[in-house]
Amino acid sequence: MKVVLKNLTKKFPARGKGSGDVIAVNNFSFEIPDKSLVGLLGPSGCGKSTTLNLISGLLRPTEGNILFGEDDVTSLPPEKRGVGLVFQNYALYPHLTVMQNIIFPLQNLKGKNKLSKAEMEMKAYEIAKLVQIESLMERKPNELSGGQQQRVAIARALVKMPRVLLLDEPLSNLDARLRLQTREEIKRIQQETGITTIFVTHDQEEAMSISDLIVVMKDGIVQQIGKPQEVYDEPKNLFVAKFLGTPPISVFDGYINSGRLFIGDEAIFDTDSKDGEVYIAVRPEGFVLSEKGVLSCKLKAVEVMGRDISVVCTNEKCTANAIRAIISAENRVDTSSDTVRFDLKKNKVFVFDKNTEERIAF
Ligand code: ADP
Ligand code: MG
Repeated sequence: MKVVLKNLTKKFPARGKGSGDVIAVNNFSFEIPDKSLVGLLGPSGCGKSTTLNLISGLLRPTEGNILFGEDDVTSLPPEKRGVGLVFQNYALYPHLTVMQNIIFPLQNLKGKNKLSKAEMEMKAYEIAKLVQIESLMERKPNELSGGQQQRVAIARALVKMPRVLLLDEPLSNLDARLRLQTREEIKRIQQETGITTIFVTHDQEEAMSISDLIVVMKDGIVQQIGKPQEVYDEPKNLFVAKFLGTPPISVFDGYINSGRLFIGDEAIFDTDSKDGEVYIAVRPEGFVLSEKGVLSCKLKAVEVMGRDISVVCTNEKCTANAIRAIISAENRVDTSSDTVRFDLKKNKVFVFDKNTEERIAF
C-alpha cells in the first residue's frame, strides 16, 4: 500500500501570551512506495511523531490530505484506516498474557469479520512465530525483557494485517545490543510481510541501516528524501550533511577566491564557482594522510579502533572543537610531530553557501 502525503500541515495553537502557533508539520508532500520501509529522521521536536499521528488518524491535519493507495483517509478515524501502531513505551496491558495482548485487537471485529476464539488464537500464534515469541504466550508483560515486550507490541500491531505499520522510536527503550538486534528483526519482519512501514527515529545510524528511503526533517520541514547512501553522498544542505554520519562531518569556514577553494590560507581545490564565503564540510573518510597534503592540522591524539585509526586534530577554521579523520590502520601517523597534513577526497568534500546553507557545486 503506497502512502501519499499531499501538502500536509499541522499547526498547534499558541499557548499563553507571546508564543506563536507551532507549525509541527509544514506542507509535507511525498509518496511512500508500496512495500517499503521509510525512516522518518530528525532531531527531537522536528515533527516526526506529529507526522506519524496524522498518518494514523490520532491527529487531524490543519491542511492537506493523506492517501493510502487511491483511498483518501484524511477524514477516517484511526480504527478505520487499517494501521498498526508501535510506540517507544510498549503500552501492553499488564494484566493480560502475551496471547491475550496479541488477540486484543481481533476481539472487536464485527459482522462477517468476526473470528472464533480458536481462529484468533491461531492468528496470534502465526504472528508470534514471525516475531519469535511463540514460547512466551502465557507470560505477563512484567515477566518479559524489554526486547520481548517490544516484540509483543509489534505482534499486536501486526495481527490485523494492517495496511500500514507505524513505529515511533520503537527501539529507544532497549539497550544498545538489543537495539541492533531488534532493528534487524524489524527489517526482516517488514520484508516478510511486505507491509509498508514508517519508522520514526532521531538516530541517524538506525534510520540509515534499515530504511529503503529516509526522510530527513528539521523544524517541521522536509529537508531531503532519498536512499540512505544517496542522502549521505549528496546532502542538499548543511543540516543534512551534519545530521548524517558518525563520526560527524567536519565543517570549516572557507572561501572561494579567483578559482580556488580555501580553508584559511591553504588552497584545497580549484573551482569554477564564484568568489565568496562558504562552509566546507569534509566526511571523516575524506581525509588522506599525506606529507605534502593541502590541509594542515594540529595533531591531538590517535585512537586505534582495530580496522581503522581515528586521527583527532584541530584547525582554527573548523567550526567544531576537534576534527576526527578516519584512516586505514595500515597508515602510520607520526606522533612525534605536532602537525599532521591531509589531502582531501573530492567526493567527500561538500561546499555550502554561507547564507542559505544550501549545497553549491565546486
Ligand atoms: P518529534 O516527535 O520529532 O520529537 P513532535 O512531533 O512530537 O516532534 O513535536 C513537534 C513540535 O510540535 C514540537 O515543537 C512540539 O512541542 C509541538 N507539539 C507536539 N504536540 C503538540 C500539542 N499537542 N500541542 C502543542 N504543541 C505540540
Ligand atoms: Mg516523537
